[in-house]
Amino acid sequence: MESRDRLMAQREMLQHNDPAVYCALVGEEEREQKGVELIPSENYTYPEVLAALGSVFTNKYAEGYPGRRYYGGQEYTDQIETLAVERAKQVFRCEHANVQALSGSPMNQAVYMAFLKPGDTVLGMDLSHGGHLTHGAPVSHMGQIYHFVRYRTEPENQGRIDFEQLRQIARETKPKIVLCGYTSYPRDYDYAEFKRVADEVGAITMADISHIGGLVAGGVMRNPFDYGFDIVTTTTHKSLRGPRGGLILCCEPFAKAIDKSVFPGLQGGPHMNTIAAIAVTLGKALQPEFKAYAAQVLHNAQALAHALMTQGAQLVTGGTENHMMVLDTVKSFALDGKVAEQTLDAISITTNKQIIPDDPNPPLRPSGIRLGTPAATTRGMKEAQMQQLAEWMVNALARHQDENYLNILRQQVEELCLDYAVPGLT
Ligand SMILES: *Cc1c(COP(=O)(O)O)cnc(C)c1O
Repeated sequence: MESRDRLMAQREMLQHNDPAVYCALVGEEEREQKGVELIPSENYTYPEVLAALGSVFTNKYAEGYPGRRYYGGQEYTDQIETLAVERAKQVFRCEHANVQALSGSPMNQAVYMAFLKPGDTVLGMDLSHGGHLTHGAPVSHMGQIYHFVRYRTEPENQGRIDFEQLRQIARETKPKIVLCGYTSYPRDYDYAEFKRVADEVGAITMADISHIGGLVAGGVMRNPFDYGFDIVTTTTHKSLRGPRGGLILCCEPFAKAIDKSVFPGLQGGPHMNTIAAIAVTLGKALQPEFKAYAAQVLHNAQALAHALMTQGAQLVTGGTENHMMVLDTVKSFALDGKVAEQTLDAISITTNKQIIPDDPNPPLRPSGIRLGTPAATTRGMKEAQMQQLAEWMVNALARHQDENYLNILRQQVEELCLDYAVPGLT
């Protein structure tokens, strides 16, 4: 069957045999097309990735690594995984890559388990200052197994990391791993400084660049390997635009420990359909168009941040150096982040509520929202659209109780979106 017909046939079978799932799928397709996605960890993946994800690679067990598998029938899985690994090494300029982590959380877990014993110390960022759940949140298993100590940012220094304090904590607690990389930190990372501290106390350097992976791949943000980092982890589904997965990248001396930790240490069979999609994603990241995309993500973030601040909104860190920004909605509009998120939902702009450094409010009603440009940039939006979106957002938040007004704004947002197709949906 021609592939186009086969795809149609698959969808028709789903529609016919499981209308409940099919209806939800169509609803999600419409939602993604209708509004603007500004959650900084989200993106629209490539049609080729959707094809690889929905392929028969999902059928195959491939426990082990290329050339060293536990089951037969691996000629194509080996090709696919080798391709993904080689491309990952080329994109991130490193000696070794493991592409099997099932997502970002097991990816970080595998690194900890490769090098730490229970109770060992990791030095990571304070969670309200931008650290991720997997950087030892008390509610996470990792936070209970290992001993996480925290450095912080300095509000009086526009949210820059306090390296004085970081060095002092490192000297006192002798961590095994010094961890940088964040989920809500709008600045670039000073890898050289982290490396100096880690060397002083004999710690491994780990950068979790999950959010900015695509920007590092596109060469528009610093690459931790240029500063001698040991381990770099990144999700593949955020700015990198791929399927949901994780890469663990490292230099040769750490390769064996990492591979063993992922399999058989933590996981069983890798998701070969995802690995095929990761190979596609990294192939795309090697194209000149991807560099242009990554650069535009940054331009759009500058435009959005600037337009918001010009209209009186207050950003944590006073701007952005990457693809994201944290808007202090309490200071700017006297609204908590939950109400702000809901108000923007009402005008078809998707954002997420976000705790800000030392947030006095509880996590489900925090003091801010987080915005980012990777997804909107994928649809082809540029600086002019960012300015327009900033204006609509500020107006909506300033008049959040005026339902008629919000409806008018929603129509305008949805009209704008008609001009920007979602890849894979046309
Ligand atoms: C998103 C993210 C992760 C975890 O990824 P999941 O795929 O959601 O498990 C880990 N670290 C950082 C910094 C992230 O932003």
